[in-house]
Amino acid sequence: MIEGTNISKWYGAFRALADVNLTVRKGERIVICGPSGSGKSTLIRCFNRLEAHQKGEITVNGIRLHNKMRNVTEIRKNVGMVFQHFNLFPHMTVLMNCMAGPMWIKGVPEAEAKKTALKFLERVRIPEQANKYPVQLSGGQQQRVAIARSLCMEPAVMLFDEPTSALDPEMVSEVLETMTGLARDGMTMVCVTHEMGFARAVADRVIFMDLGQIIEEGKPDDFFTNPQHERTKLFLSQIL
Ligand code: ATP
Ligand code: MG
Repeated sequence: MIEGTNISKWYGAFRALADVNLTVRKGERIVICGPSGSGKSTLIRCFNRLEAHQKGEITVNGIRLHNKMRNVTEIRKNVGMVFQHFNLFPHMTVLMNCMAGPMWIKGVPEAEAKKTALKFLERVRIPEQANKYPVQLSGGQQQRVAIARSLCMEPAVMLFDEPTSALDPEMVSEVLETMTGLARDGMTMVCVTHEMGFARAVADRVIFMDLGQIIEEGKPDDFFTNPQHERTKLFLSQIL
């Protein structure tokens, strides 16, 4: 589904990703963790072309990403992304937020886009909010709209960048439950998160990054109970 080899990215002279290798198979659920500034966001943003890598190869769902910013639209149809701060369109209703992508990017007719939007709002359990504006919703509800909006594009893979870290504690679980449901349904997912309960419950592999590199990866049981690298141990001791 995603194949990345020797991915490197610089911001000016600063190397944010240093020869990262990561393969995500269809149906696989990956959790990426690591300290602030370790390159987690940069890595997944390269997968949907929010950032361009400068060296290495990335192929997503059969589409090869060149280091120049080409085939952006094609990639956005295949790769859904959910952000920490929801990034909903504030001037559109919940329903329109979910209909806009399919209609404008994929050319789906309005009636069909509406049907799909309602289906996925149902799935994230907020169909009754369809005609509200984002500002009228709680953080947890907004994040579930963001997930529904991504699903409406019927993506092959979903990327999550700390989707619960901006939420009040009581809203974290509703978003994690939605994500767990997606995982159970077989969605291919790459999640940057420090929600280690979620990682234990759904991840096939947990990846630890530091200084723009993958330091260690493993199945959740091994990763949490028997981390190999000193930096992983230190990180886990700080967050668990
Ligand atoms: P966090 O946990 O805080 O979200 P992260 O692991 O997601 O951190 P990134 O956002 O990928 O880290 O950033 C990796 C490094 O690249 C950081 O040192 C950051 O300062 C730098 N960086 C990120 N975006 C830019 C940018 N647009 N211009 C310059 N430097 C950047
Ligand atoms: Mg980040």
